[in-house]
This record gives sequence, structure tokens and C-alpha cells, in this order.
Amino acid sequence: MSEDGTRSIDGYTSEDGGDVSTERPLLNRRLNGFGTTIFAEMSALATTTGAINLGQGFPDTDGPEAIREAAVRALREGKGNQYPPGPGVPELRAAISAHQERFHGLSPDPDTEVLVTAGATEAIAAAMLALLEPGDEVIAFEPFYDSYTACIAMAGAKHVPLTLRAPSFRPDLDELRSKITPRTRLLLLNTPHNPTGTVLTREELTAIAALAVERDLLVVTDEVYEHLVYDDSAHIPIATFPGMHERTVTISSAGKTFSFTGWKVGWITGSSALVAAVRTAKQYLTYVSSGPFQYAIAEALHLPETYFDGIRADMRRKRDLLGDGLRAAGFEVYQPQGTYFITTDITPLGEKDAYAFCRTLPERCGVVAIPNSVFYDDPDAGRSQVRFAFCKQDDVLHEATNRLRRLAS
Ligand SMILES: *Cc1c(COP(=O)(O)O)cnc(C)c1O
Repeated sequence: MSEDGTRSIDGYTSEDGGDVSTERPLLNRRLNGFGTTIFAEMSALATTTGAINLGQGFPDTDGPEAIREAAVRALREGKGNQYPPGPGVPELRAAISAHQERFHGLSPDPDTEVLVTAGATEAIAAAMLALLEPGDEVIAFEPFYDSYTACIAMAGAKHVPLTLRAPSFRPDLDELRSKITPRTRLLLLNTPHNPTGTVLTREELTAIAALAVERDLLVVTDEVYEHLVYDDSAHIPIATFPGMHERTVTISSAGKTFSFTGWKVGWITGSSALVAAVRTAKQYLTYVSSGPFQYAIAEALHLPETYFDGIRADMRRKRDLLGDGLRAAGFEVYQPQGTYFITTDITPLGEKDAYAFCRTLPERCGVVAIPNSVFYDDPDAGRSQVRFAFCKQDDVLHEATNRLRRLAS
């Protein structure tokens, strides 16, 4: 309440302090402008038109049968059917730690440096709510995964975009430096990056880490595509760089790596102080989730190298299949180094507006895609970019690209 008795949120004051139910919008100021996510809108369009959905990034084939069976077994054996421990079941925390060690040489203490969350989504929310004060600034790559801006806003902080520009979508590190102010608290990274497929290089990560140390910033890094990296690119967690352990919250998830996006098993790793802070927020969000699935994902994380090599090879092939098809249909294709998305430009098709294009695409071609413009603060920046997901069966990708070829004629 402000002095005159009206409510004030971030400078917003209801006109006369009268009947709030009519004077004041129901949705709070912080979430003003966050309508239905584009994924819900476009997936609904896919359903009503029967179009092929290359919009939302979920695989159309489930993950390994042995892991599904592990979930069934856990359910039958009564493992995780009641509230699991707050930080996650011990088997899963140990498996997360062992996986970090096996692939990245990190060895978080399963008891104090690992926290299981309801997917990476909750991890992002809990990290923002735990680590930010109102008025803090958060620098994040743009185009951005849409939950970032919403979570930063819910924490009352300010999102400062660092635009990755076509065609290379590399971060401009001088620009990054210039955006750091005394209010900057945190860098929110995402590598491999959704939607551009950019994988940060060792050189880029070295520079970003040095900057974080120099300016005493926290880093929250979303690495849910850590295993979906192609060609000569390699995923290196920024937590492995000097001075980063104590300032980095690393987020990952089973959804993308094991093709079980509905199970919502995610996690964070980091120093015990950071994990304790994020746990404080997380325990009042879901408290716990995904009980039996936690046991199954513990087994998944111990799968042999052949599994991880296999999914990477499979996705790489799909990337090339869809990329070739999109090129043939007349799109400009930006080759992704990671993730399961391809960002394209529709200008060569004589199109300008990605959002308008995506709204009519289901009717014109029977395909759904996502306009990248919604992932920018300034929609003009990504005005002509469209994202396609390739985590679909080969015949679905073939059919989709055949349909899209209509655009070329
Ligand atoms: C899919 C995705 C998430 C969400 O992960 P869940 O584990 O399903 O919550 C987070 N970040 C990025 C970049 C994603 O693409």
C-alpha cells in the first residue's frame, strides 16, 4: 500500500483506490502481456486443422522401453507413489551426480549439490524466485525460451536481452560487457540454444565466465539439450570454468535427453549454497513431483554411451532430413549445432511476417511451425524467422517437407 492507500506495484497505482475488481486488471502487472504461450496457440491450431505439428518441441516417439518399464516397476513396487524426499530420491540424485561426472567431469555432492525439480521449467522459476530481488537486471540471450521472461518478471526483476543475430547467432561479447550495470545480478544462459541451435564454444564460455567473475555475477545456465549436439560442436558446462562453481546454477532435464517430456523430471546442480537457496523457493512451488519417474530416470542416466550416441546420431540425421526439405521448399535455413530445432528465414519465399505466415501455414500446407518473433522483446528483430522442430518420425518429416514444397511453386 502506498501512502494514499492505493496499491502500488512497480509504479502502478490504481486510479482512485476504488473497487479493485473493476478498476484493476485481474492479472497482476508483472504478468501483463504474458498471454497464452505460442506453443498452446499453435498446438491448438494443429489439432483443429489436422496439420503436422512441427511447432512444439516434443518427440513423437517415446524414449527407451527399458526406462518405461522401470517407471512401471517403480509404480508397482510402491516406489515414489507417496511424497518423495524434498531434494529428490537418493537414487536419482546419485545418478545425476554420476552423469555429470561421466560426461562433464563435474562431481556434485548428491546430498547438498543436487536438487530434483519438476522439469527444467520449475528449476528456472525457482532459480529466478530465489536469486533475484525486485529491480535486479538479468541478461539473457534473445531469442529466448519463453518461460525466462515470465519467470524474471514474476521475480520482479528486469530482463535485458542480448540479441543473437542471424545468420551466425553468436553472442557479441563486447555488447554483453556493455549491458552489465551495477544492477545486473545474473546471466541466464542457454546452450545448446533454443531456438537458434547455437552451441557456445570454449572461447565464448571462457570470456563469459571471466566476465561473470570480474563483475561478480551469478550464472544460471539451461543445458537441457546437453546431449543433442552435432558435428564438431561440443557441449561444455560453464560450471567447469575457473571461478564458476560457486556462482553457477546448472539446469538440465530428462525430457529432451530421454524423450519423456511428460514426466517432468529436471534438476539443478551447483554449490551447496546456491542449491540451498533454490531449494528454498522450489519447496513452496511443487515441493516434490514425479515420484516413480524419478526412479526410472535414475536408471536412464546410467544408460551406456551407446544410448547417448544413438539419440545424437538419430537427431542429427533428422536435422539434415528436415533442413534439406526446408531448403528445397525455399526457406533460408540456419544450420543448428544443437537442440532439435531449425530456425529459418521466410524472406526468400516472398514472406515478411513470421506470425502471419505461421497462422496461415496450417491451411496453406498442413504444417504448424512457430514464429520466432515471439521470442524477442522487439518482435521486429525476429520478424521473418520461423522455427521448425525435427524430433519427429522420419516419415512425418518427409510428409511435412513434401507439403511445404507447395510454397516453392
Ligand atoms: C524444453 C525446454 C525446457 C523445459 O524443460 P522441462 O524439463 O520439460 O521443464 C527448458 N528450457 C529449454 C531451453 C527447453 O527447450
